[in-house]
Amino acid sequence: MWWTGSCRAAAMSLTDYVRKRDFTKTAEPRGEARRRSHGLYVIQKHRASHLHYDFRLEAEGVLKSWSVPKGPSLDPSIKRLAMAVEDHPVEYGSFEGTIPEGEYGGGTVMLWDTGTFALEDGATWAAAERAGRIRFRLNGKKLKGTWNLTRMRGRQWLLIKSRDEHASKTVDICEAKPRSVKSRRLLAGIARVHGGDITKAATGDPPRPSG
Ligand code: MN
Repeated sequence: MWWTGSCRAAAMSLTDYVRKRDFTKTAEPRGEARRRSHGLYVIQKHRASHLHYDFRLEAEGVLKSWSVPKGPSLDPSIKRLAMAVEDHPVEYGSFEGTIPEGEYGGGTVMLWDTGTFALEDGATWAAAERAGRIRFRLNGKKLKGTWNLTRMRGRQWLLIKSRDEHASKTVDICEAKPRSVKSRRLLAGIARVHGGDITKAATGDPPRPSG
């Protein structure tokens, strides 16, 4: 009974994702809601109309998703705006490539970080999300340690690093680690390989050293 209800809820939660996309035009996966959660964690760096980082945690058979304009910060005193966006299928977690211009999210997508997460304090996803306080431990290639998503109002959340051995006030992780964990490419390289707009993609990469 529990799985039946959960699966139906998850399937419903992908309707926004499917409605916004034309799968005859975009290489993004159609996907479907899954019955089990494996605790996947993903960040995709996305040079669309604006550069942002899509932060995703696997729960309730889908990837719960937030768009973080400035990306994550390792500094616990810095609060990064995270706008809740539509749930994505779990298959999306390995996507890297280009979305055609004119389509929803048109631009270049990089798999910036991936790994697993676990909720802290023995919380359940439903209770944490409802309370607007999701506290979790990341085991990614770039991000580790304890993090918090805290709801402000509506779809506005804050992504904040907890104080632990993985916090840093000096390392800008987005600048220090600009490459894909899947292909080692920068955005421009991904656009080149996948037939995207290389010049536009390059504006999301760190500036080249002069000279
Ligand atoms: Mn995006």
